[in-house]
Amino acid sequence: MAQEDVFKKIVSHCKEYGFVFPSSEIYDGLGAVYDYGQNGVELKNNIKQYWWQSMVLLHDNIVGLDSAIFMHPTIWKASGHVDAFNDPLIDNRDSKKRYRADVLIEEQIAKYEDKIAKEVAKAAKKYGEAFNEEEFRRTNGRVLEHQSKRDALHQRYSDAMNAGPDLNELRQIILDEEIVCPISGTKNWTEVRQFNLMFSTEMGSTADGSMKVYLRPETAQGIFVNYLNVQKTGRMKIPFGIAQIGKAFRNEIVARQFIFRMREFEQMEMQFFVKPGTELEWFKQWKETRLKWHKALGFGDDHYRYHDHEKLAHYANAATDIEFLMPFGFKEVEGIHSRTNFDLSQHEKFSGKSIKYFDPESNESYTPFVIETSIGVDRMFLSILSASYQEEKLENGESRVVLKLPAALAPVKLAVLPLVKKDGLPEKAREIVDALKFHFNCRYDEKDSIGKRYRRQDAIGTPYCVTVDHETLNDGCVTLRNRDTMTQERVAISDLCSLIEERVSIPSLLKRL
Ligand code: ATP
Repeated sequence: MAQEDVFKKIVSHCKEYGFVFPSSEIYDGLGAVYDYGQNGVELKNNIKQYWWQSMVLLHDNIVGLDSAIFMHPTIWKASGHVDAFNDPLIDNRDSKKRYRADVLIEEQIAKYEDKIAKEVAKAAKKYGEAFNEEEFRRTNGRVLEHQSKRDALHQRYSDAMNAGPDLNELRQIILDEEIVCPISGTKNWTEVRQFNLMFSTEMGSTADGSMKVYLRPETAQGIFVNYLNVQKTGRMKIPFGIAQIGKAFRNEIVARQFIFRMREFEQMEMQFFVKPGTELEWFKQWKETRLKWHKALGFGDDHYRYHDHEKLAHYANAATDIEFLMPFGFKEVEGIHSRTNFDLSQHEKFSGKSIKYFDPESNESYTPFVIETSIGVDRMFLSILSASYQEEKLENGESRVVLKLPAALAPVKLAVLPLVKKDGLPEKAREIVDALKFHFNCRYDEKDSIGKRYRRQDAIGTPYCVTVDHETLNDGCVTLRNRDTMTQERVAISDLCSLIEERVSIPSLLKRL
């Protein structure tokens, strides 16, 4: 199946099974805003728990915070967001569609890279075992031609971005590369303009004199302005971290990839405060720790790669993305940045207050450096769904759609199904649910044939189903069915809790870290 089709299927699956709905749907939706349904909210909460616990429970020097969405507007002046949180946008006059100029160029770079990858794959197939990839890349004419075009474009693009960005040059690159609008197919482009991504609103009534405030575009600043409160009241010693999960808002120009790029989304950010000079060591460590967290979900190492930044944001001295293989290619899911002491110094400057840390070991005061790990809950959600969604042909000729979610993240852990709706089987099934619901999320279902009920649970990723049959009333055993293998085993009701809980709990994931 083409990857685009897979993506379309995932989007409609999310809607059909109560994971994600377009916001305000009965009013025809609101661009790039989505609501999470009954199963989506469970999966999302589990992702958040997995992240939170891996940070706050597993590290005794990381604590949590929940700061407000509204903050003093000067914070955004200090952080640079008022002046520099812009995207370069360009419109196609024929389709009237708006694009990010930088994204159009990055996609063009990716096209050259794809061409190279295809040449390599073709040759690998042709030469089999004897294939020497390194030599092929070094000597093959077509590969070298694509590579030199890619490198020249990349250099020109980096120069343009580093020069402000140079908006005229970005446009010229788009024209020179003959990049066309995917909708109209034309090169009828407008000028490139800068567009600030922050939403703003008014706080207070106008009679009192209202104040322009922003909806935060990242949760990090709430951590920075509270770092000393937390440090002092929690008696934290450097190095230490503050973790926060919360909503962020960006008026994204291009918002066409479902929950990949939203205008209202959720971030999980951890700022790790370190002694100046040690930051690159910590950066390396967090890069590894975070990748391990992703890989523990078991989707396979080939789904992940790092993308080290060549063009660094004004505040960073090292940065990398963890990218995940989505149906539309490798895409950023998490950013890890060495943010220097930029933010804290700026807040000192703008607030006029000292927020230096006093180091009792070296007897000196300094402004800590910060390593940030920043991941989008919604993007993580999308990556998990993409990797879990499978269509399988069964031995009996039927097919099934199954979400092979990591069991600990699945919205429902166990479905309890009476074989028939009579003879005391529903009562027995409800008894089981009532006993187990304190331990994990159970669902009772008695409607339709057992086969159909299994399919419904497969479609939402329930790792286990138990069927209560007439024998159960005599022997106190049920049939336990495994979602992935579809194998069934007879187990005692009294063993169910211990059998399942161990495999579906968040700690079962945490133990892999
Ligand atoms: P992009 O380059 O895709 O716009 P970014 O580099 O601006 O992302 P960061 O500012 O580093 O993103 O934000 C950290 C994380 O927050 C991202 O890795 C992503 O998972 C998430 N994120 C950022 N913007 C959005 C959005 N509009 N919708 C959903 N998640 C987002």
